[in-house]
Amino acid sequence: MSEPYDFRDPIKQDEDQEIERQLRPVEFADFSGQEKVVENLRVFVKAASMRGEALDHVLLHGPPGLGKTTLSHIISKELKVGMKMTSGPVLDKPGDLAGLLTSLEKGDVLFIDEIHRLSPVVEEYLYSAMEDYRIDIMIDRGPGARSIQIDLNPFTLIGATTRSGLLTSPLRARFGITCYLEYYTKEILNRIVKRSSAILNVAISEEASIEIATRSRGTPRIANALLRRVRDFAQVKSDGRIDIDITRYALGALNIDANGLDEMDNRILNTLVNKFNGGPVGLGTIAVSVGEEPGTIEEVYEPFLIQEGYLKRTPRGREATEKAYYHLGKVRPESQARLF
Ligand code: ADP
Repeated sequence: MSEPYDFRDPIKQDEDQEIERQLRPVEFADFSGQEKVVENLRVFVKAASMRGEALDHVLLHGPPGLGKTTLSHIISKELKVGMKMTSGPVLDKPGDLAGLLTSLEKGDVLFIDEIHRLSPVVEEYLYSAMEDYRIDIMIDRGPGARSIQIDLNPFTLIGATTRSGLLTSPLRARFGITCYLEYYTKEILNRIVKRSSAILNVAISEEASIEIATRSRGTPRIANALLRRVRDFAQVKSDGRIDIDITRYALGALNIDANGLDEMDNRILNTLVNKFNGGPVGLGTIAVSVGEEPGTIEEVYEPFLIQEGYLKRTPRGREATEKAYYHLGKVRPESQARLF
């Protein structure tokens, strides 16, 4: 199987970032799907606004591209407060965090992406900031060094993570609101593709929009990226309108998997089916075979494969389903036996 198009390629991501900003929903009303999460957040935001207090700290977890950053922008906009953004790996010294925290105004949002990658010292520093809106700062060095306590303006920390399993329990316990984002259904992705086409001012047929939605791995970021690539093909190879023929042609040319699985999904299924006769295989063994961390497979890849019925978790390990065999153009040995 040739390698599908990689949406995480940094160069492609860079040139696409500006358009991604245009397509990003700016209020709850524009944000499709995740109904329960949105409904709850609306209530919490409204209640905090009515009381004139900072919203409780929010933890958003779920696979990449499902809308964590988007929701965080929406929350700060609906709260009518400012937002500062950073990410776990960037904050390597408590001083970096102190600078950010002291610059927050009353009620502001501090968004920390990949919060599971905070260093332990920075994380510990965050505890008192989250709990009491207070931090200790070291003044001077050497023998004259002393620490002074600084009061912060009440603020809301929004942490985003793809790997909630890596969060320490003291950190997790400090979030009053926790939301899990799920993969999107085809129907909702179809709605998102149509909304994005309207913003990009490109005509798209219903059938073409459904095709893109189906091949987007349940992920709005991928749906938008596919739409932009198909739009390029439509412009160059056709009259600019996106119909089903140009969509199929473009997705074929980009090696997009017919069911929207990405390269790692296919590697996992190939390993299970071709190296281990469909399983059961332990997570650790799969991880070594495909060259990815077990936790990432468990929290980022498997949920989609399980939801779509390609893989099963059993007490003895992971098993490939008949659908996985079919996807790889094979027949599962037991089903073959049943045929005779
Ligand atoms: P994450 O932070 O979870 O990785 P983002 O919030 O950056 O994901 O979302 C990626 C892109 O997908 C956004 O730019 C936005 O255009 C689109 N998107 C995400 N969720 C939705 C949604 N519910 N409705 C419409 N577009 C969405």
